Amino acid sequence: MKVLVLNCGSSSLKYQLLNMQYESVLAKGLAERIGIDGRLVHEVPGRDKYIAEKPMPDHAAAIALVLDALLDASVGVLKDKSEIVAVGHRVVHGGEHFTKSALITPEVEKAIEDVSDLAPLHNPPNLTGIRACAANMPGVPQVAVFDTAFHQTMPPKAYLYALEYAMYEKHKIRRYGFHGTSHFFVSQEAAELLSRPIEGLKMVTCHLGNGASVCAVDGGKSVDTSMGLTPLEGLTMGTRCGDIDPAVVAFLMDKEGLTGAQVNDALNKKSGVLGISGVSSDFRDLNTAAQEGNERAQTALDIYCYNVAGYIGRYAANMGGLDVVVFTAGVGENDAYVREHVCKYLGFLGIELDMDKNAKRGEPLDISAAGAKTRVLVVPTNEELVIARDTKAILA
Ligand code: ADP
Repeated sequence: MKVLVLNCGSSSLKYQLLNMQYESVLAKGLAERIGIDGRLVHEVPGRDKYIAEKPMPDHAAAIALVLDALLDASVGVLKDKSEIVAVGHRVVHGGEHFTKSALITPEVEKAIEDVSDLAPLHNPPNLTGIRACAANMPGVPQVAVFDTAFHQTMPPKAYLYALEYAMYEKHKIRRYGFHGTSHFFVSQEAAELLSRPIEGLKMVTCHLGNGASVCAVDGGKSVDTSMGLTPLEGLTMGTRCGDIDPAVVAFLMDKEGLTGAQVNDALNKKSGVLGISGVSSDFRDLNTAAQEGNERAQTALDIYCYNVAGYIGRYAANMGGLDVVVFTAGVGENDAYVREHVCKYLGFLGIELDMDKNAKRGEPLDISAAGAKTRVLVVPTNEELVIARDTKAILA
């Protein structure tokens, strides 16, 4: 069974074709600069990358080119389009409507559209991708897998903001959380790595990528998470500010003469470790700059680690204990400095790292010191696999 997994952004489209009999990746790639000019990077494991500059006026054209590459005599992996039995889509926001993945029907499309106000940058391109697939692959079933769904188990005390209750009733303003497929995947993998039933484990999973969020996972269920109504809340991120006093928004509008949308833009794109350091949002650049003596880069790293540690401590308190901390995504999987300096705060919770193990990369690993009460794991995330598994399960 071959499943195409798609992650459609406003001007780009990431794809993976998986053979679900072995859960193996047959091909993957990125169509970018959609609506501008168009560039396709297509990869088949074990072969040279194929890069093509081709016009992609819209998502339908991009998907047609992805299908061409998958079917191509020299760089392709399929003989016929009909070998793709289903398409799984990453959809960012499912609101309160979706607590799990769903087969895409006209009603589901409408429900995704209805919550687009909550994710105006993400849901519309997700829908465009769904419609473009329907045009290119008529009759092939499509499944939506939501970033928010895993967090729908949060109790009201975790998801309600202390605003006037009517704001929740009228506008559905509340915490939703994101990166749900990743938090779900790594929490399951962590339990497996430890050979312990997930039902008995209190975990904090740290998805530290360009965007970053932490999740309190109690007995396999999300009970709290750091992102909120939008992915702006919570941790300090690459370019997002994370938690700040909400009064800063009106203050900035007033002092800098900005509109709400402009402040929102600055908080999303010019803040975080980039904003503090003035160097980069990429942790490789930040680490290098800090090592070369750049004080603001060092301060950005300090703020980042302090915040991640703070959330882990908070969730340990809220869950009444902590058995496992999991690090994942670009920074979480690769940045030994960040893991070390987050964990330095947490000795009081029984956390201690094995420094040799912390220096390793690329495989699921328990990096805690022998005998440490609370385990610390690095688990590479695989959101595409979760999407493909859910797609397969829904079609079964
Ligand atoms: P996204 O959120 O876009 O999916 P990723 O999870 O791939 O992003 O994370 C990307 C980030 O991971 C980069 O911006 C960079 O900061 C960080 N990163 C990647 N490799 C390394 C590395 N070797 N050391 C430190 N940070 C890294």
